[in-house]
Amino acid sequence: MNERLRKELAAWLQFYRELGIEDFYRREPGGARVAAGADLLRAATATPGAESGRATRPLDSPQAGGGFEPRSTRAEPPARPLPAVPAMPPTPIRPPTPSLSLFEAPPPPRQGPETLEQIQKDLGDCHRCRLAEGRKTIVFGEGNPRAPLVFIGEGPGADEDEQGRPFVGRAGQLLNRLIPTIGLRREDVYICNVVKCRPPGNRTPEKDEIDTCSPFLFRQIEALQPRLICCLGAPAMRTVLGIKEGITKVRGRFFDFGTTKALVTVHPAYILRNPREEKILREDFEKIREFLARK
Ligand code: URA
Repeated sequence: MNERLRKELAAWLQFYRELGIEDFYRREPGGARVAAGADLLRAATATPGAESGRATRPLDSPQAGGGFEPRSTRAEPPARPLPAVPAMPPTPIRPPTPSLSLFEAPPPPRQGPETLEQIQKDLGDCHRCRLAEGRKTIVFGEGNPRAPLVFIGEGPGADEDEQGRPFVGRAGQLLNRLIPTIGLRREDVYICNVVKCRPPGNRTPEKDEIDTCSPFLFRQIEALQPRLICCLGAPAMRTVLGIKEGITKVRGRFFDFGTTKALVTVHPAYILRNPREEKILREDFEKIREFLARK
């Protein structure tokens, strides 16, 4: 066992001892529970470099995995088998440093969600899919990083590709007219798309392009933590909510997206092609207004 590992193991054992846990075990493939405390202890406290042998004590439960027993169970073995207990803690949790006791150990550093800047930096000059070939600009998204509301469209069009900003063409102008009906300004919300690069000829993005790009969208949502997501059109609805039904069936409805809600509505470009349907979008925006007005 190398020195670093030995020290880390010793720190873990000290940590568990202070919690009153001293007896560790692991599971054999057949389910037998095998004591691991003795060899762990020996290895951790042995002279650096010395390898320890394995103690084997078959125990009872057939479940897979491993675990530990609190100190009190060692003095008087319980009559009934112990309930299954969780395995070793997940790796991201760091053990206390060897020199510190459990109570002196500083709390582990908090890892908050990523920032939009970090996500954009990671996206970089993206060439992960073929859309990179025809685009001029990556349209990452824009708006208030603390927006209560996020609009998600399909993908940049020609104007967006030119300017590097989402929804700045004709569909964007319609969106700009509708946002104030919710009682917000464009700069109060966040606007982005399922794919960040313009599909050639404004075609619908293909599945592999969406699969490649959408993780960045989900990371943006995670960073933004909005109160409400508004999916503009079917590709946004399918990508964000996994809904396969036609948009006309589900538009105007709220869905759960983790702890956030998502409303599905038609894409403004559809209204530009079918101006008589504008009332649909207005109705749905009224629902957004009512939702956000609730505390
Ligand atoms: N249509 C979209 O889906 N997104 C834009 O950014 C512009 C038009």
